[in-house]
Amino acid sequence: MPLVQTESIVLRTYSLAEADRIVVFFTRGHGIVRGVAKGAKRLNSRFGGSLEPFSLVNVEYFEKEDRELVSIRSIEIERSLFDIAAEPAFLLVFSEMADLLMAFVPPQDPNETLFRMVKACVTADIRSERELNALKVYFELWLLRLGGFLPDWSACYRCGRKFESTETARTDSDQHLLCSSCSRSDAGRAVVPAVRDGFVIARSLSPEDYSKQIGASDNDIAVKELNEILKKIIQNVIGGGRERFTAGL
Ligand SMILES: [Zn+2]
Repeated sequence: MPLVQTESIVLRTYSLAEADRIVVFFTRGHGIVRGVAKGAKRLNSRFGGSLEPFSLVNVEYFEKEDRELVSIRSIEIERSLFDIAAEPAFLLVFSEMADLLMAFVPPQDPNETLFRMVKACVTADIRSERELNALKVYFELWLLRLGGFLPDWSACYRCGRKFESTETARTDSDQHLLCSSCSRSDAGRAVVPAVRDGFVIARSLSPEDYSKQIGASDNDIAVKELNEILKKIIQNVIGGGRERFTAGL
C-alpha cells in the first residue's frame, strides 16, 4: 500500500457508518481523491477541524489497489477557511464551485494548473458578495478554459474580425460571439463591451484582482450576464454526454 502525500483542498465530507467520514479532496498531485477518515465523527478525533470544507490541507493517505476509496492517515491544516465558510453566501458559492469541480474533473486525474487556479480562488481575499460573485465567474471561466470548453470572445466566431472596444456583439446557440454583420439582430443574446471585457480579462488577472475589478459596484449587470452565459456553457458541457464527465457526476 503506497503512502501518498499531497497538498489538497477539502471539497466535501459525507457521513460513513457510525464514526467515520468520507472526504472528497481536490489534490495537487492526484486530482479528485475520495478517502475514508476513520473515527472522524468522534469528539476527540485526530482529524479535529481539518475536514472543514475548503480548508487547504496537507493530506497523507494509503492507496489500496482494488478500492476507489483511499485510507487517510493524517491531515494537517495549511489554511482554514472557517471564518468565511461560516457566511452563508460564501458557503453557497464555494459549494457550487466544489460541485463543478466534481462534475468536471475525473477521479484521480492530476491537473496541477487547475489546482493552482482553485487554490488561488479559495485563498483570495474576498470582502463582499459582489466580489464573491465575480470570483465565481472567474472560477468558471478558468474551469472551462482549462478543459478546452471556453469559446474565444476576442473575435467574431464567423468572420474572425476582432471586436472594437465599443462594439456590442451577439451570442449564437453555442455561446460563440458574432459581430453585427454575421448575426441576426433578434437571435441570441446581446453582449455589451463590459460583459465581453469581463470574459476576456480573466485570462490575465489573478482571481483576487479580477474580483476587485469586476466586482466593482457599477458592474453588477455584467457579472449577472456573465453568470447566465457561463451557466449555459456549463450545461452544454455537462449535458453533452461526454464520457469523461459521467464519472464525477
Ligand atoms: Zn462577423
